[in-house]
Amino acid sequence: MLVLVALQSPAAARVLNIGTVDLKDTLLTIKHDAFGDIQFKRRIFDSPPRLVFDILEAKLGNRSYKFHPPKNSDLSEVRVSQFDANTVRVVAEAKSVSALEKIKIENIGQNLFFRFTVPDVIIQNLSLEQGDLRVIADGPLVPRNILLDNPERLVVDLIGARLASEAQTKKFDNAGEIISVSQFDKSIVRMVFAGKDAQKREVRISSNERQVLVLAPEDNRESTNSTNSSTAAKVQIAKLQAIKLVSSTKDETIYSIDCSHKFEYKFLKLHDPERLVLDLLSVNYPETLSNMTIPDSNHITSVRFGLATTGRPITRVVFDIKGRNLIEEFKETAEGKVLLIRILGLPDKKSEATIDGVSKSAGSIVIVDAGHGGYDHGAIYGGINEKDLTLDIAKKVIDNLEVAGVRSYMTRSDDRFVALAERVEISNAAHPDAFVSIHCNALVTNPKMEGLQTYYFSNDGRELGEVLHKEILDEVGMPDQRLRKAGFWVIKHTKSPSVLLELGFMTSDDERRKLARDSYQNDLAKAIAKGIVSYLEGKS
Ligand code: ZN
Repeated sequence: MLVLVALQSPAAARVLNIGTVDLKDTLLTIKHDAFGDIQFKRRIFDSPPRLVFDILEAKLGNRSYKFHPPKNSDLSEVRVSQFDANTVRVVAEAKSVSALEKIKIENIGQNLFFRFTVPDVIIQNLSLEQGDLRVIADGPLVPRNILLDNPERLVVDLIGARLASEAQTKKFDNAGEIISVSQFDKSIVRMVFAGKDAQKREVRISSNERQVLVLAPEDNRESTNSTNSSTAAKVQIAKLQAIKLVSSTKDETIYSIDCSHKFEYKFLKLHDPERLVLDLLSVNYPETLSNMTIPDSNHITSVRFGLATTGRPITRVVFDIKGRNLIEEFKETAEGKVLLIRILGLPDKKSEATIDGVSKSAGSIVIVDAGHGGYDHGAIYGGINEKDLTLDIAKKVIDNLEVAGVRSYMTRSDDRFVALAERVEISNAAHPDAFVSIHCNALVTNPKMEGLQTYYFSNDGRELGEVLHKEILDEVGMPDQRLRKAGFWVIKHTKSPSVLLELGFMTSDDERRKLARDSYQNDLAKAIAKGIVSYLEGKS
């Protein structure tokens, strides 16, 4: 699995410098000075099989590296060099493309790791039950589906998998459908289903990824309902049970998505036409649900759903949204089995201006963006993750803003990965009066460096940045590392006045300890909220 973030932020502002490059056994480590995120392009070519991984906006200097991995690995050569003025290229040549597909690349803190040998998982058990083929392995399985014609076949390859023994090479006759299982190459197990309904099969993977089920189409199955549900329970796939309209008023609409088990989800807001796309991960739905009618509402013209991909059980729900001036909030209940989606109509800016409130900032909207999240940890020093600091501080900022009567929203309110583009989408949909992104800094080359850096991109952002920067320095007191202009993704692409705050250096032991302290976070949050309010009051 590739766990990196493309088109990322702080590093985008300046060139990433590469320090040591080292291959130990089959682990390549590239040390760099980026803030956790890197920009990259990853491609795999055959003849000869090679992985080309470009690190963008990066400098290696005049050096170049060539490594010869151990003879027993699938790799033949690894090279790292400056490809052009701004690109550092990593090339790994291997004996097969499948060996390259298995390479794990992770960017953790200021280390970029390439794990070239990920051991093959071993298939422990293969069985055909009521037409369903079940595969159990001793590690995570990576299925890849291919549909072939003449005759119609479904091919399911398990990448990086090996049969435990020759005896697992099998051919089944499943009521006229021929199913074969074999070792296709050194690390691919291939399952071929040939027959008229073969392509209607569904491929499911368990949540621990150690089981793959290739299910016969529902109508061909002889099994009873009880065996079906026990199957579903074993692989931990949730079933969608209902999508309901809970309530709808002029100001807000709430829908609920009910599933049989706790589930994860991802969302994305898309424009022209306006829609909210929700992917329910490891969630299937019974055929009977396809006819379910989901009512429209004051803010939603229609709700649709279907399978997002054929390979994995991901159910996609699309809400067609009326107008742009809306914001969505998500809330999980019933132990994660129910997801509530609250769609809020945002107040019309013009009508607001006519209200003479107590405070001029009341009625304003602010987006607070907690940097990083989920597998994107940001910087990690002394056992502290940047993603946790940013979330804690962001939550405290929101609390302070609410007290001041400023409507504020977060781009994430828990430990989950939200892509930069999604953060921008969320913000732009809300038309806020200000966008403030919270980060913490790191500079390995100078662990003594401490203090506040405030970044802006547009002139509007500069004004907000000036007020915030001064307020935080006045209130909290830390070295002034200046207000700076930079094209970080979130402040460049958000339409409102936007700033990115680097609230201190995690590479300084002192400052990192402070940042992790609740009272210091409170002081920071108070200062940030105060700065936002005085900016808003100055504007109106
Ligand atoms: Zn950061």
